[in-house]
Amino acid sequence: MTRYETVIGLEVHAQLKTKSKIFCACSTQFGADPNENVCPVCSGMPGVLPVLNRKVVEYAAKMGLAIDCEINRKSVFARKNYFYPDLPKGYQTSQFELPICEHGHVDIVTGKGPKRIGVTRIHMEEDAGKNIHSAHDNASFVDLNRACVPLIEIVSEPDMRSAEEAVAYLKAIRSILVYLDICDGNMEEGSFRCDANVSVRPFGQEAFGTRAELKNLNSFKHVQKAIDYEVERQIDLVEDGEAVVQETRLYDANKGTTHSMRGKEEAHDYRYFPCPDLVPLVLEEAWLDQWKSELPELPKAREQRFISQYGLSADASEVLTSERDMAEYFEAAVAAFNEPKKIANWLMTDILRELNQTGGRAADLKLTPQNLATLVRLVEQGAISAKSAKDILPELLETGAEPEALVKAKGLVQISDTSALEADVDAVLAENPKELADYRAGKTKLMGFFVGQIMRRTKGQANPAVVNQLLAEKLK
Ligand code: ADP
Ligand code: MG
Ligand code: ZN
Repeated sequence: MTRYETVIGLEVHAQLKTKSKIFCACSTQFGADPNENVCPVCSGMPGVLPVLNRKVVEYAAKMGLAIDCEINRKSVFARKNYFYPDLPKGYQTSQFELPICEHGHVDIVTGKGPKRIGVTRIHMEEDAGKNIHSAHDNASFVDLNRACVPLIEIVSEPDMRSAEEAVAYLKAIRSILVYLDICDGNMEEGSFRCDANVSVRPFGQEAFGTRAELKNLNSFKHVQKAIDYEVERQIDLVEDGEAVVQETRLYDANKGTTHSMRGKEEAHDYRYFPCPDLVPLVLEEAWLDQWKSELPELPKAREQRFISQYGLSADASEVLTSERDMAEYFEAAVAAFNEPKKIANWLMTDILRELNQTGGRAADLKLTPQNLATLVRLVEQGAISAKSAKDILPELLETGAEPEALVKAKGLVQISDTSALEADVDAVLAENPKELADYRAGKTKLMGFFVGQIMRRTKGQANPAVVNQLLAEKLK
């Protein structure tokens, strides 16, 4: 048992899904040619003036409302000064002393139960450009397409006590952003990024230990592994009587380790000051009322509704609502065939497995929710066996074929019609008088033999449940 407690605080950067950048009219389109989406404002030409994008304010405030923040009616943009080639202005326009949102919280659930994680603040800022180092050209290039793309930074309180809690918090934040439709939440592509501040302290000690800030965490798995490694490293240091130094450390996904990127001595003094080019932002009550009224149903609320409305278990409900498109897929399928638990079952087993393997999303599935509903209906109505349904699922997922057409083409239609099967049952009994006599004399195990013969006669198309029922009646 470790004598140390882990303390974690997270800084999340979410790229907002606006059409244009935060301070100019350039497009935020991903995948454009280098420097295609650039103007004098976002390339930092002298003499230009920024104009704040109203959508950015709306999205930042909506995130604040969604996680119960106080929304500051007045907030201020500030310059964060540092030099780097991908930052042509020489400062990042951000918010510092008066951010747009403060004092929110997010509720998470882990193996240890429910817990509330504090959110210190949310502020708006611009992204930087990108340096591209080319060995081929023996040169470095700067692409400013991403410069001035809007971000919100969501800073948590140091409230998390394990990597598991950190990941649960991140998943909750990501899910809310995606539900609000203000961020696409793609960690690999970097539209949802996170830095983890990690420290350890002996249990019972009130003062926090010195923290390291971990960067380069571009999947939930990396967050988990980087924190676990870092905690071990810090505990080893403390146990050896050495000090943890405050520094920024990079996670190396190949090695599963962290290494120092820059120490406190090299840490920037950002010389923050209010941006003289942007007046303080004052929010009108009417805007806030409007934004509040536009908030969609959020993941936690939907999770509760799935439990009460569809009778799903808490686990199923959580799995099906954490991704917005999965929740919508489920509801579309249920609308087409009202068997929520059966549909949930298919989604949580075979289909989720497929999505995990391909890294795909519910919204990209070729099997439409309506077609999944049809498949479930065919099984429920006895038109095909559950086994046949499982057998054709891979093809349905791959091709998007209509289940009914595929079932026909493959000759999987079950015979469930009692009058049609009765003839087969009678024939089998008539063909096997000895077995029939033995059965009647008490060898009831022969039931399986009769079922087998009937299945053979019908080339496996008889509905076994109906066959069993018919046989039971005839053999009485
Ligand atoms: P900075 O400006 O250097 O990033 P902040 O005070 O804004 O520092 O803190 C950044 C993050 O670090 C916050 O999420 C906060 O909760 C977390 N944090 C602060 N102190 C600690 C600590 N001792 N251990 C773990 N996390 C911490
Ligand atoms: Mg920081
Ligand atoms: Zn521009």
